[in-house]
Amino acid sequence: MDLDVLGAGPAYSDRPGSSGAAYLVREDDTSVLLDLGQGSFPRLAAALEPSTLSAVVVSHLHPDHFIDLVALRHYLRWQFKPSRRVRVIAPAGLTTRLDALHDEPGFTAAVLDVEDVAPGSVRIGALDVTAARVTHTADSHAYRVAPAGSDGPALVYSGDCGRAADLDPLIRPGDTLLVEVSFGPGPVVAGANHLDGPAVGALAARARVGCVLLTHLQMGYDEAATLESVRERYSGDIRLVAPGDRFTIAS
Ligand SMILES: [Zn+2]
Ligand SMILES: [Zn+2]
Repeated sequence: MDLDVLGAGPAYSDRPGSSGAAYLVREDDTSVLLDLGQGSFPRLAAALEPSTLSAVVVSHLHPDHFIDLVALRHYLRWQFKPSRRVRVIAPAGLTTRLDALHDEPGFTAAVLDVEDVAPGSVRIGALDVTAARVTHTADSHAYRVAPAGSDGPALVYSGDCGRAADLDPLIRPGDTLLVEVSFGPGPVVAGANHLDGPAVGALAARARVGCVLLTHLQMGYDEAATLESVRERYSGDIRLVAPGDRFTIAS
């Protein structure tokens, strides 16, 4: 599988070029996009023809993870005659929120085939996508993405997650763990349902992942200190990802 990082930002950033969560996973002719946060639609369009996406899979309904579905919707509706459609798997309520943004009933359903995510696996072309609930909003999910039918190493994406142990059921030894590290070297402020480096490092070590890809680092946290806080607990490969990064995930 190939992983393209299209956006790796948190909810906001002062860094030019930073854009919201968007991770493109491809295997053969299948392409699954994990989240589509602010500003990432142009990078999606540069990576592949957006109307050919097999599915967009949304982790939770915070705008930094789905707001560029508005751009995708307009693109599919107006760029082609007839318009084209894309499948979207998301927490319940996505359609209502997008329709409200545009103050237009039917805005979403015009071109997006939205399904509610449910815990468990769904096969999307050449990929198996498995969802597990995580502590964040009332309806937040992490995902494991693997080649269809494969027992080998795969990709696990945390979404936003306030409890590292929620990810354990999805992870197998050797996996690539794409994980939020919102609070850098820590600590996570009281009441924030996010992770920090020490929590990620402990998770990566006990789950024996193959490598750790850190993302969603909030403004004001030092990158080197963040990496070190993970490295103190986990001895494998650790990267802080950025838009344009590409990884091959062996299975
Ligand atoms: Zn977020
Ligand atoms: Zn969030």
